[in-house]
Amino acid sequence: MRVSLRWLGLFLVLFSFESQSSIEVKVRLTPQPSDLIAQLDLEDYVKAVVAAEMPALWPLEALKAQAVAARSYAAAQMKRHQGDDYELTASTKDQVFSLKTLKSIQMDKKKWASVIKAVNATRGMILTDAEGEPYWAYYHADCGGHTEQPKDVWGNQQESGTTDDEGCSLRAPWSVTLDQNALGKDLAVISPVSHGIKAIKVIEKTGSGRVTKLEIRGLEGVITVSGEDLRRLIGFEKLKSALFTVHRRQDTFVFQGTGHGHGVGLCQMGARYWAAQGKTFQEILTHYYPTAQLSHMKPLDGTTSVRRLAKAARLSEEKR
Ligand SMILES: [Zn+2]
Repeated sequence: MRVSLRWLGLFLVLFSFESQSSIEVKVRLTPQPSDLIAQLDLEDYVKAVVAAEMPALWPLEALKAQAVAARSYAAAQMKRHQGDDYELTASTKDQVFSLKTLKSIQMDKKKWASVIKAVNATRGMILTDAEGEPYWAYYHADCGGHTEQPKDVWGNQQESGTTDDEGCSLRAPWSVTLDQNALGKDLAVISPVSHGIKAIKVIEKTGSGRVTKLEIRGLEGVITVSGEDLRRLIGFEKLKSALFTVHRRQDTFVFQGTGHGHGVGLCQMGARYWAAQGKTFQEILTHYYPTAQLSHMKPLDGTTSVRRLAKAARLSEEKR
């Protein structure tokens, strides 16, 4: 493990152990604003990301699937930002990473044994697309029963299959009640029309049922917003997903939904469920990324080879 830190042009070697990989990643540290960029082995980066993104006590095959997804996403960003000062940020904007977690992994190998094992067992493995390019392996907490196409969440992105998760459709729905005045304040960022909200109506949904367009009627007119924009304005933790219904109750609006997160790619709760059912990480990855294939990253330049490791059987034919 070798970590160097760059700050205002100065290079500091923070800690240095045996090098694990010839591929290094440059991560801009948070909180922002920050000029700190950590440069470290990709495999060490993946360990810290897996430790932050998924509970270490979860089944090993779920942790392995998470490791491949995290490494693939990092590889896609490294390719996009080749030659830039940094390739990834350390926040949820990309993947959660901290030097503190990395140090903890190095110092307490027993506590993090399953994370270390999952990353080592999938060392260098990433998902690639039909052209052999690193795959944008997005992931989220809970699909609520159905995953989502990236283009339906963020617009023009890669084509990716979606799937159903039997384990995720059984959980109780969440509910959040928002006062109409508070809601109006949140929406005032985009339009004064939202002052005095009278009605909110869902007018468009994706195939999986996620809200893509809402009509909001205020005292001074009508605006339309997307489900993801409404989540951003209200707060991603309040409105946990775009898989919701909304109705008015007196001076409040009640949102009821399932799932947590954008719904694209690997579902962490689903990965946990499938791993507990005895599925392998390859099967889990094929379930969530049906158009991707598992490949090995080529060292040095961060590009990938397209050598296929395994073609896992589909868990479910129920895909759109
Ligand atoms: Zn799921």
